[in-house]
Amino acid sequence: MNNQTETCPACKGNSLVHNVKDGTLQRCPLCDGDGEVPKKYNRRPYDFSFPACIVPKNGQNSVSIQAPGDFDFEWWDNVAVATSSSVYVLLEINDVRFMNSLQPGNGNGIPLANWAGTAQLPYSRRFPFVISARDQATLYFTDFSGFTNTVTVTLKGHQLIPAKTKSQSTAQSS
Ligand SMILES: [Zn+2]
Repeated sequence: MNNQTETCPACKGNSLVHNVKDGTLQRCPLCDGDGEVPKKYNRRPYDFSFPACIVPKNGQNSVSIQAPGDFDFEWWDNVAVATSSSVYVLLEINDVRFMNSLQPGNGNGIPLANWAGTAQLPYSRRFPFVISARDQATLYFTDFSGFTNTVTVTLKGHQLIPAKTKSQSTAQSS
């Protein structure tokens, strides 16, 4: 069970329900036997913004933030502004790296232009990824421009706000 699913309300997680005609057990048609269904969310636009990171010329720096504690964030788009695009980026969430490192242990990551667009033309993920409340997100930058490089990254997406579930009092008797 992850934070994007909830127990199926039809079979209550048992994967089976009684057929209404003959009472035999059958695979739950709502969850297809998984016992879980996708959670229902309301979405509110949200920018997951890292503070500007000043990367010394030909050097490295990192910036780290903790996700807000009161909602999960559904990440869709990457946008960045940088003094120079000659900078590599590497993202870690809770110490899990989200790309290969050019040099293992060095943490260079990939060119910023291969990872982020701009607000006018964002890099849009084909599928969302959820950054859970209170996750720790860190960006590592390595400059190759030869000049001090200021990089500002924003992940664009949505707050996931759990939809109100129907009152239990409306459950029908059998
Ligand atoms: Zn079910």
